Order: sequence, then C-alpha cells, then structure tokens
Amino acid sequence: MTATKILFVVLDGISDRPCPALGGMTPLAAAKKPVLDRLAKEGICGIMDTIAPGVRPGSDTAHLALLGYNPYTYYTGRGPLECEGTGIHMEPGMIGFRCNYATISRDGIITDRRAGRIHDTTALSMAIQEGVDLENFNVEFTFRSGAGHRASLALKGEGLGYCVSSNDPKKDGVAPLNVKPVKQTTGDQKTAAVCNEFIRQSSRILFDHTINRERLKNGFPPANIVLIRGAGEMGHFEPFTKKYGLSGSVISAASLITGIGNAVGLVRVPVEGITGSQDSNIPGKISAALRELKNKDFVLVNIKGADESGHDGLAEQKRDFISKTDAALAPLLDIPDCIIVVCADHSTPCTIKDHSADPVPVLIHGDGVRVDDVERFDEYACAKGGLNRICGAALLPTALDLINKAHKFGA
Ligand code: ZN
Ligand code: ZN
Repeated sequence: MTATKILFVVLDGISDRPCPALGGMTPLAAAKKPVLDRLAKEGICGIMDTIAPGVRPGSDTAHLALLGYNPYTYYTGRGPLECEGTGIHMEPGMIGFRCNYATISRDGIITDRRAGRIHDTTALSMAIQEGVDLENFNVEFTFRSGAGHRASLALKGEGLGYCVSSNDPKKDGVAPLNVKPVKQTTGDQKTAAVCNEFIRQSSRILFDHTINRERLKNGFPPANIVLIRGAGEMGHFEPFTKKYGLSGSVISAASLITGIGNAVGLVRVPVEGITGSQDSNIPGKISAALRELKNKDFVLVNIKGADESGHDGLAEQKRDFISKTDAALAPLLDIPDCIIVVCADHSTPCTIKDHSADPVPVLIHGDGVRVDDVERFDEYACAKGGLNRICGAALLPTALDLINKAHKFGA
C-alpha cells in the first residue's frame, strides 16, 4: 500500500566527527538507540549534504533547503524568519531584525548584552509599540517579545533596504554602535536612519518604564536598550500547500524554525514544556506530531538538544541526549500510512563547537522504500546505504515520489 503522509524528524546537529571523549566514536555511533537503528534497518539510508558539499549550513538555511526552498534565493538574513517566529506576519518586502533587550548605563556603556537574561518582556515591548513614532519616515513597525531577553522588529514602508549593520558591539563595557548602511544605497541609508531613531526612542521609553525602575531597585540590570541585528528582507515564499499539494505543520521550540515553517505556510503547533534544550518535552513533541498527522499530509518536527551539546563540546552529554531522544521516538515504529524521514540539518561536531559541512545521516522508512543492508543509524553505517549521498533539496522530492505525488517531467 502506498503511504499518503510524510513525517520529517530533524535531529538538529546530531551528527559529529570522531570524539576523543568517546574513544574516537561519534556521539551518534556511541549512543544506544534501538528505535533509530530499527528504522534504519527497515528503511533505506544514506548521507546528505543539506545545502552542498563543503557548505556549512545554519539551521535556518538548512531547514529552508530541506523544505525545498533554495536558501540562496530565499535567505537574506535571519531577521524576517525570527519575526515570523514571534508571530509577526511578514509581507514580502518587509525588513526584519532579531533583537535583544540589553542594559546600558547612564553614560552610554553596554553593561549587560542580555539585560540579566530578563524574561517576560511583553509589557516593555507593548510600551515600545505604543510609544515609538516613525511616521516622519513614513514607516510602520511591529515590535514583539520573543523567548527570554529576545525580541524581533519588523519595518514596513517604501524604499527600505536591508543591508544595514547592527548596533550590537558584541561585548560588554563599550558603547553601542550606530546602525550603518552597508552599501550606501538610499534604501540602506533610510533603513539605517529608521533603526537609529527606533533605538533612540525605544531607549527613552525603556529608561522610564516602571518595570525597569523596579529591576534597578531590586538589584537587577534594567532592560533599557534594544540591540538589533540579522537584518533581512522578507521574500515571496510560494506556499507549501501550493508547491507540493500537501497541508502541513511544524513543531519546534526554536522560533527560527517555526518562523521558517510559518513563512512557507506550515501551521505551528505549540507543545507544553518544549525548551530546545536537554530538558525538552520530546515525548510531547512526538505525540503532537502523531496527532497532526491524523489530518495533515506533512509534519516537520525539530529536536534541538544534540546541537546544543555539540556547541558546548560535550560529547558524552550529546550521546546521552541521543539515547533519550531515541526512547521518545518509539511511537514512530507504529505509524500507519506514513513515510518517515529522519535526518539532521547539519553536523555540530563537539571538537569544533560549531556547525560543520560534514554530511549528515538520513533514513527513509515506509511502504515502497527499497530496503538496503544498513542496520544502524549513524554517520558510518548510513554512508553505505542505498540512498548514497544526496543533497538536502532532493529529500522532500524523494519522499513525495514515495507517496506518488512527484510531478512527472516529460511524456
Ligand atoms: Zn541546526
Ligand atoms: Zn547550532
């Protein structure tokens, strides 16, 4: 019987290089993971260059590629996708930024780039939304709180460029920078001027806000300046439903990933207790995915914790997180009518504490796949699989073919 649904499980940054802390094994090869191994055994495996060989992907560009949206066309910066992730509806042409609440002293020095990791900044963001006036520039803006000290800013107006620098000095103890046009076009000059005015006015509002007076009184750093970065222009994304004829949902703790999902028209599914970290509610994510599959054709679940361990260089933690994730994936063994794809978006080797271009393992499980001889889901075993080495853009079309929804090219 041909399956009719597709589930993508993206294990963020799960693949690695040989780790000295694990006797030269990768965390994935060292982990106990009976569920992933069984899926690999019953499915077809391979390795994948998410974007292209030798290209180190960000999570954002990688997910765009996995969803079939060429990042070289669609990606201008992280900002617009973060805006989508905080619930701002971005129209094509709008300029988006990711922001931090930070602390600046009376004499203009940044003393804490995360404002003491303040959380619940909704009231501050509302005060900025109501108080800042950019009408002189003929520009509308939306400012929204994100998780913790994070926020996002979207600008809408004629003639705005997106190639502007950040005001974030990237370290404490120095003054914030001026936002500058990168290319000296009138559009970039206008956006830079708008940003500097936004930062000036919002800081004035924040300095006087009761929440910040309270924080000062209680010995906490006030959130009295907004640092902005990651400028980008929202592109026109052909809706996922139209592109593939599939309805879909996205499940992730990372606003960047849900933002990408929203941008292409996937419905974001909230799940209680998901953190994007070691303590995330992974069983909750998987049950939400199974629930969604009852009335959607496509679901993407992103599980982030292994990437975090990779960035921290903690190989044993990464191995243990993979085992914990594997246990939570057990319900995948009995999904009817579904092509299950498991992969990473990029490698995050513990030895380099950042993303690398090393290809990632991938497996496809479900009716119609040509089962190969691979019996384990890891970087080495998958390299011998029947999918061989593919690129990220080929993954969704391959799954679409298995549900008989690939377009026929030619007669
Ligand atoms: Zn990632
Ligand atoms: Zn990462």
